[in-house]
Order: sequence, then structure tokens, then C-alpha cells
Amino acid sequence: MEQLQNYIQGALSDPLGGAWMPVHEPATGAVYARLPDSTPADVDAAAKAAREAFPAWAAMPAEERARHLLRIADSIEEQRDDLAAAESRDNGKPLQLATSVDIPRAAKNFRFFATAILHASSEAHATDTEAINYTLRQPIGVAGCISPWNLPLYLFTWKIAPALAAGNTVVAKPSEITPMTAFRLSQICIDAGLPPGVLNIVHGRGAEVGAAITAHPDIPAISFTGGTQTGAQIARTAAPMFKKLSLELGGKNPTLVFADCDFDAMLDTVVRSAFSNQGEICLCGSRIFIERPLYETFRDAFVDRVRALRVGDPLDEGTAQGAVVSEEHMQKVLGYVALAREEGGRVLCGGERVRPEGRCADGWFISPAVIEDLPFQCRTNQEEIFGPVATLLPFDGEEDVLAMANSTPYGLAASVWTQDITRAHRVAAHLQTGIVWINCWMLRDLRTPFGGMKQSGVGREGGWEALRFFTEARNICVKL
Ligand code: NAD
Repeated sequence: MEQLQNYIQGALSDPLGGAWMPVHEPATGAVYARLPDSTPADVDAAAKAAREAFPAWAAMPAEERARHLLRIADSIEEQRDDLAAAESRDNGKPLQLATSVDIPRAAKNFRFFATAILHASSEAHATDTEAINYTLRQPIGVAGCISPWNLPLYLFTWKIAPALAAGNTVVAKPSEITPMTAFRLSQICIDAGLPPGVLNIVHGRGAEVGAAITAHPDIPAISFTGGTQTGAQIARTAAPMFKKLSLELGGKNPTLVFADCDFDAMLDTVVRSAFSNQGEICLCGSRIFIERPLYETFRDAFVDRVRALRVGDPLDEGTAQGAVVSEEHMQKVLGYVALAREEGGRVLCGGERVRPEGRCADGWFISPAVIEDLPFQCRTNQEEIFGPVATLLPFDGEEDVLAMANSTPYGLAASVWTQDITRAHRVAAHLQTGIVWINCWMLRDLRTPFGGMKQSGVGREGGWEALRFFTEARNICVKL
């Protein structure tokens, strides 16, 4: 059985307390590896290594830092197939998805920020003829990066890459549910010659390792992606310590389908936006609002398409829906389907545990569920499920749909389907979400601000936003 290790001070090491936790393969339900059940002492060692590595890394010319990060990007690309297999096994997602989306994006994250830093500039302000001000953007020090299980290497590197590119050193914690590709990344960094202490990866539980990173006095910036409740807990610790905080949290994203949309293009993408990665993407559109004249046509075509999604072994090429990440999460999602029934919903398809034949018989699979007849204010339509469950709701006009779409405490992303360009802009401006896609979904340009409003988060990632977060802006005023 494979045994994962922490990556501290440039080397792989066992947890100081000598304790380990199991890693499961969601597709079989079996334990297949062990990961360090680290303690605050491991975080201390990582923070010390990062603090010591900081001055030299921060002072290194940006071009040289970029070369280190580009070497890591190259290795991720070279090892794409192995990393994708590891990601699929660890998370349950279809191998095809890990190969085409997760791993290429992890490499792209490093490449994007390695080159971005070469083009970064800061502002100057002339105060009439009296003085000139210029802004220095300097790295903060040690950044704490904490990431979730749904897009493991993709989201882990989305934080680490800008933090390192900007000249910070990092103490990072991947989700204990999906630690494997972060562990592989440690070996890649060692092989790529990243200086010791620049990146440190500590594995373990959120309440132990994550909390120790959040509270550590030598880690002045925390970048977190995960659940809203966890984000609130992190803020409670970090705010009185005046740490810089970036929080990317949960969502309950609306998809707005107007009757004048391009139906075929819409249908393909809306199926994907509801059920990609078993619905375990924070951007998935789980509440689908359909303009009333199109409702029945949409519902019937959508349900046909969803019924055709093959649920099964993530390694099979034809699999559209792999396993959900854990037994606990499977029970949570099934619990929401039961709740939807109690709330008066009609389950049109799916929502059952699936036991594929063969090696996956004990895996954690759920058939994708489509539910109608639920009021927009009910719990099923207000709480984040984060699984393969989508609800359908008819609407009459823009005001009606905006009121329902904006009714949740979340505000991460939305997508709008219409051929009327004026309406598209008008609706986009009134949606309370950090991201709006018009006639598309999850079309990503890494330069754009990424993040949510309301309880979906604080701050933005992506492009300059990320580099701004990971630097301290200082104004120098020179009297002329
Ligand atoms: P989670 O909040 O349970 O865990 C996320 C990370 O935080 C893990 O590494 C975990 O170990 C750690 N953690 C847990 N408790 C902690 C604590 N007290 N202090 C510090 N760290 C702690 O979330 P999850 O279940 O792994 O991920 C699913 C959630 O993530 C969903 O709500 C989803 O919407 C959200 N998410 C948001 C985005 C986004 O960009 N907004 C992207 C992906 C996932």
C-alpha cells in the first residue's frame, strides 16, 4: 500500500507524530493508500522552512523564479497520463476528464503565473509638480494555501502558482480526501530543483493542519477554497490576526434558459454544466430556470440526455459519471434527494445509488437526478448539494427569474441562454454572482477575476487579482 509523505524543507518526510490516515478509492470503496495525519508540529516545521527560504526566493530575479515554475509545468505535462490516472483513482472522476481538464489546467496554472510575473508592473502617481509616488508590490512572506477535493491538483496549483510567482514561499494543504496528486507534485518539485522550503506541503485533517496553518503567526496570508462554513471558521481565526484573506466558497448556481436560445447548443452545455465531475464543481449550474413556453420541451429533452449519461467505472472510456468522492458525501447527496421528495419534488430520473458490475460494485455511485415541482425557496433549492442533482423551475419573464436566481445566500456563478444580446447584458448586470457566462459555461480565461459574491467568498483569484492578493502594495512618495 502506497504511503504518502509530507514535503518540508525540500524533502519528503513522515509526520512527526507518526500517525497515518486511510486514503480511499471512491470507485471501489477500498482503502488504497495512507497519508500523514499531521499535527501542528508539522505545520510549524513547514512554516519555519518557508520563512527561512523566503528572503532568497523573494530576491531572486523574476525570470529565474519563472524558470523554476516553468520546469514544474513541463513535468506536469510530461506526466499527464500518470497524474490523470492518480487523480481519477483518488477522486472518482472519469479518467477522461482528469486527462483533458484537471491535469492540463494544473500545468497551465504554473505556466500562466510564471509568465504573468514577467509582465507585471505597478503604478506611479505624479502629484502635480510637487512629488512623484510609486507603488512597490512586494511579496508578503509565507502564504498558506488550503484547497478542496473536487478539482484536487487544479485548485491546489491555482493558489500555489501565483503565490510562488509573486515571490512568496508557501505552506500548502490539499484535501485529506484527495491528497495523491499533491503528493506527486512534491516529487515533481524535488526533481525540478525547486529550492528547499519554497513550497511545503503538509497533509492531514482540516481541523488539525488547516486550522494550524490559519492560526500560525508566521503565515500572514491565507488563500482558501472550500465550504462556506469552513471559510467562516477560517475568517474567525484569521481576521483578528489581520491576515490577508482570500476565500473561495460554496455556490448554488442558477442557469437561466430563455425561450429564444439556440436550443441544441444550450442543451449540450446545460447537461455538462449540471453534471460535469458528478456535479462536484463549485461552478455547476444546479438550479435550471426555463422560460415557461420552453419548459416541457426542455424538460423532456434534458431528461433524455441525462438518462443517457453512463454511470460507472471512471477508467472506462464511455463513462460520463464516475463515483462521488466519499461514502459520507454519497449519503449527503442521497439525503438531499429524499428531502426533495419530502418537499414535494418529482424526481424525473436518477437519484439512486448505482452498483456497477465488477470491480466497482462497492463504489460510491449515484445516477444523476433531475427534479421538478419544487418551490424556489425550499431547502433543496437554497442549500448547496455539490453532487449530481439538478432542479428544473419554470419562469415568466426577467424579473421573475432574477428574483428566484438571486434568492440564495450564495453568489458564485450563473449562466444565461438567450439570443437577445440586449437582454443578455441586462440580465447579467442584475445577477448577484461574481461570474456570468452568456451562451456558454466554464469558458475560462485565466486573466479574468474569479470569485463569488455574498456567501460564495471574499476577494478574487485569477490574473492580476491573484498577484495583487499575494503582494503587499506600498507607496513611496518622493518630493521633487
Ligand atoms: P471543506 O471546507 O470541507 O474543506 C476544504 C479544505 O479545508 C480541505 O483541505 C480541508 O481539510 C480544509 N479544512 C477543513 N476544516 C478546516 C478548518 N477548520 N481550518 C482550516 N482548514 C480546514 O470543503 P470540501 O468539502 O473539501 O470542498 C467542497 C466545497 O468547496 C464546496 O462547498 C464547494 O462549493 C467549495 N468549492 C469552492 C470553489 C470556489 O472556487 N469557490 C471551488 C471548489 C470548491
